[in-house]
Amino acid sequence: MKVAVLSEYISDENRVSITPEIAEKFIKFGCSVFVEQNAGGAASFSDDAYKKIGAKVDERDSVISGATIIFTVRPPDPCHLSAATENALLVGIMEPYGETERIAKYFDLGLQPIAMDLLPRTSRAQTMDVLSSQSNLTGYRAVLDAAANFHRIFPMMTTAAGSVPPARVFVMGVGVAGLQAIATAKRLGAKVSATDVRPEVKEQIISLNAQPIYFEDKSTAQRLLSEHIREQDIIITTAFSAGKRAPRLVTDSDLASMKPGSVVVDLACSYGGNVEGSSPGKILSKYGIKIIGLHNGASLLSKDASTFYARNMFQFFSHYWNKDSKSFILLDDDISNAIRLENPNDAKIRKKIHA
Ligand code: NAD
Repeated sequence: MKVAVLSEYISDENRVSITPEIAEKFIKFGCSVFVEQNAGGAASFSDDAYKKIGAKVDERDSVISGATIIFTVRPPDPCHLSAATENALLVGIMEPYGETERIAKYFDLGLQPIAMDLLPRTSRAQTMDVLSSQSNLTGYRAVLDAAANFHRIFPMMTTAAGSVPPARVFVMGVGVAGLQAIATAKRLGAKVSATDVRPEVKEQIISLNAQPIYFEDKSTAQRLLSEHIREQDIIITTAFSAGKRAPRLVTDSDLASMKPGSVVVDLACSYGGNVEGSSPGKILSKYGIKIIGLHNGASLLSKDASTFYARNMFQFFSHYWNKDSKSFILLDDDISNAIRLENPNDAKIRKKIHA
């Protein structure tokens, strides 16, 4: 069975879907692995590293021709896939929302797109969960970007020249990225608080020795939240889900109320933004505040991000690998039903993707 690994064509994408470590595991399963030239270059995995473990490195068309599975991180342009073989699976983050035309083109090519970004958040699927593995790194990166752009240090420091207080970090949205942001900011010595719309997260915030910020009385909640924001040095916002517009958590008047030199990092900048005025991939200054639009943070940590991503891919593959027949069979189960995209040429499906 032939497994293909695409080179990412999106310019700011530095990750690769399959690392040499995982390519070797496929080969041990009896698969042949074909990797597009320089696919791992931006993640520091050389073509030689793939060749060394027995993978073939070649140009795109011969890599994908005859492959049963084509792995990618981000969705490829369908016009790059004309050499693919009928019924091949195209596995990666497919970003299907609002992209009916692109998805339909995969079907026109005879491909079956598998959207790992639609994986159910169940414990059985946890080891294949690309959103978690990548969000975790983004949460870490957000804190480092904040620290690198902050004009003070994070920990309290006492020296012969006196002491400075710890930086105050507020994390808004405590999913996978938010939890890692809290943990990273704590490790750097900051005084950390956090909030989420889900009340059950309170316990997780406390378990990381951070302060949960929840206001029960709805009539005063917004005012008290704005008062809390005003006192912060660093704010990290992480509230978004693909296909939906991100909620506005920090307004322009919140920014105006903060101390000059404060830093706000918006992880939702590519989804409409949690922070008013943030822009993907840019560091803007307003009211003396730096507003960082952290776009594709995992790609900035491309080696570790690819390592985790490739392991997620291998878990997915192993889940459906039949050892006896040495074949990959995408059985009908809750996981495959969630990630297998349907042809948007079907009017009903078109409606679902647009919703
Ligand atoms: P996410 O990226 O969807 O959202 C980030 C966080 O923002 C969420 O916690 C959300 O509640 C919060 N949020 C949304 N609107 C907000 C608002 N207006 N104000 C403040 N916060 C807001 O989150 P995620 O990383 O996908 O994780 C979501 C949940 O799923 C978490 O509890 C996570 O632990 C869980 N999870 C479970 C599994 C599993 O069991 N396999 C895997 C991954 C995540």
